[in-house]
Amino acid sequence: MSSLRRLAIVVVVLAASFLVRSVRLQADRDVGVQADRGSRKHVLAWADVRNGYQHDVISHAFAVIERLGHESGAFDTFFRTDSQLVTKQPIRFATGTGIASGEQFLAHNLEFFDAIFFFGVREIDLTPAQRADLLSFVREDGKGFVAAHSGATAFFSWPEFGEMLGGRFDEHPWGIADAAVVVDDPRFPAMQRFPPRLVVRDEHYQLKDFSRDRLRVLAHLDPATLDLKRPLVHRTDADFPVAWAKTYGAGRVFYSTLGHDPELWDTVPIQQMYFQAIRWALRLVDGDATPLRR
Ligand SMILES: [Zn+2]
Repeated sequence: MSSLRRLAIVVVVLAASFLVRSVRLQADRDVGVQADRGSRKHVLAWADVRNGYQHDVISHAFAVIERLGHESGAFDTFFRTDSQLVTKQPIRFATGTGIASGEQFLAHNLEFFDAIFFFGVREIDLTPAQRADLLSFVREDGKGFVAAHSGATAFFSWPEFGEMLGGRFDEHPWGIADAAVVVDDPRFPAMQRFPPRLVVRDEHYQLKDFSRDRLRVLAHLDPATLDLKRPLVHRTDADFPVAWAKTYGAGRVFYSTLGHDPELWDTVPIQQMYFQAIRWALRLVDGDATPLRR
């Protein structure tokens, strides 16, 4: 056998053993992920946006949350752009829609989930029973509800939703603009990676129907960095919260106005704010949500 031929055989054998080893590593990792899966929490990422502004950012925001939950092993995320799973009732399918004889559809309802990450908008078609189940998911079952940005525009026709969330959207008078976000509570898990003061370019919201006596504002906009003479500025107290935490019955609720701009979801402060807020809502970490005076 020529030395060239011998060399070629050695190379092939080495390559094959490397391949086998990497396949085995991959398999070990898959087994590890499967083994962990049972202890992971379940998050429903819910964005039914059929009746309002359809933010392009939602896909990226959901992908970021899914990745952070997956990589940390904290939770698995299930994306839905409809509201079918927002119910405690068993989800049934009409006869003839099965994909194989005797097979059951795998359709989780709220009983399966530990928290909702909500990026919906405006009026969402839920039956009265679904609305009751959603409130009791948080209030009675003690589960979590974390809402981003347009979440505060949702369900204006439903007062109890506003009560659960803590407040309502009231225009974005500055369009996309720079404004300084000032952290009120740097110890709360969601704010621990947020600088004390950070200029953020985003579609900043003005909020209404909230009371600092009923929720803990975690960060707010510095009014000195806003044009308060804009026609849609309604607040006379210059109080513009950016993030808050509260309880609703036995459950934990977090809301932040931030997240219109896709690039924000690639920054550590925003990623960690929502990720840690979800961990808090899931009771994986504690944080004080008692109201804080301005
Ligand atoms: Zn927006």
